[in-house]
Amino acid sequence: MKDLVTTIGLEIHVQLRTATKMFCGCAVAFAGEPNSRVCEVCLGHPGTLPVPNEVALEFTTKIALALGCDIARHSIFHRKNYFYPDMPKNYQISQYDIPVGSRGAVDIEVNDTIHTVGITRVHLEEDTGKSLHAGTGGRIHGAEYSLEDFNRAGTPLVEIVTEPDIPSPDVARAFATELRAIMDYLEVSDVRMEEGSMRVDANISVAPTGERGTKAEVKNMNSLRSVYRALVYEEKRQRELIADGGPVDQSTRHWDEKAGVTKPLRSKEEAFDYRYFPEPDLVPIEPSVEWLRQLREEIPELPAERRKRLAVHAGPAAAAVLTSSKMIADFYEETVSAARKADPKQVANLVANDLLGLLAERSLADTAATPAHLAEVADLVAGGDISKSQGNEVLTEVLLSGRAPAEIIAERGISQVSDTSEIEAAVDNAIAENAGVAERITAGEDKPFGFMVGQVMKVTGGRGNPAMINELLRKRLRPEAR
Ligand code: ZN
Ligand code: MN
Repeated sequence: MKDLVTTIGLEIHVQLRTATKMFCGCAVAFAGEPNSRVCEVCLGHPGTLPVPNEVALEFTTKIALALGCDIARHSIFHRKNYFYPDMPKNYQISQYDIPVGSRGAVDIEVNDTIHTVGITRVHLEEDTGKSLHAGTGGRIHGAEYSLEDFNRAGTPLVEIVTEPDIPSPDVARAFATELRAIMDYLEVSDVRMEEGSMRVDANISVAPTGERGTKAEVKNMNSLRSVYRALVYEEKRQRELIADGGPVDQSTRHWDEKAGVTKPLRSKEEAFDYRYFPEPDLVPIEPSVEWLRQLREEIPELPAERRKRLAVHAGPAAAAVLTSSKMIADFYEETVSAARKADPKQVANLVANDLLGLLAERSLADTAATPAHLAEVADLVAGGDISKSQGNEVLTEVLLSGRAPAEIIAERGISQVSDTSEIEAAVDNAIAENAGVAERITAGEDKPFGFMVGQVMKVTGGRGNPAMINELLRKRLRPEAR
């Protein structure tokens, strides 16, 4: 049997972070009182006319440029007709045969292999409202009744479609992660998948090398992790079907996060004729050379370039973490310039490991920590004034209260014992208490060394300078090694 090859293409919708909606003056925001941000235009009242949002057009063009697309010198809006309760006009203003951008590409590095993912198109459209189906846990089928919230209707939405160039769920996740970072750096979207401001749909097929597979479209993946899990599941499902000799039928499937499976949607939703036709109420988009030049200049250093630059000092692993969002990368670089003793590598470890670890699910923006705080902690650790774990204790408090590290340290009496005689006494004490272990170390065993360091640390009440403890223990137990 020939090898089976997986082929994945992604379709990603990104809500733009404009102040107002795509074709009216209603505010763009998440959640809020239902139907509190609506007007005649976004409710589709007869006789109203759309007025395009210039900032949305600018953001879309920037996205297309950042993804290496050709920009259409003449593109138009189309009406995509369909009836659904969350669509007040019964058509969505979208783009069809002439999108804003096309034929781009993004390089994704996974496990030292670079995958070039082609961008088929980048187009601008408007979002729909939100339906709330009662009595069924969110599904329309069998709902007792449905409620409509049009706050989201008319929010500017960019659709990005990739070529089927993605060979695995791994690379799909990496692409979505990179795309999210690019949007973040361009400052055009909040890209919060859990709030729906970035939504990823995937087409996936499995087939023997050189043959065409039957693709399944997978929807409802609400995090990067679910994109990966859903595609791993779907890849396995199709491989098993093929191994059993059965065909894979074309279907649209819904990812069920809890059950960890994809389920088919009713196939009726498949063969839809949207009767696209040019939107008669809007003029064509015709960007000038001068405007495009200006937008190109406004595009900041993008994640890939920044990752490369920061890796020189921070190392590739830390650089990947630090550049995942613009805010973290900026925070890191500001901390490096503010630090006097700590070098960039030490700051990178403090930010990428300690700080982000302490943040867990919170965003850096929701804390009171500043680069000056971080630099102060990094300098105190680098100078041996406090230990790394004490540094973390101080950081935890800084994140909560935004108070100055020096103040926290003074108040809590945090200090690192770097006094030689005090540490020597602690070393003597620990060796006396653990004579057997000490002998094994002297005899050449390395394993119990960490245990002894821990014992000395215990005697100092956790305040001993670890570098000094190591040094003194070595002197005492391995004098010949020097
Ligand atoms: Zn409106
Ligand atoms: Mn769309």
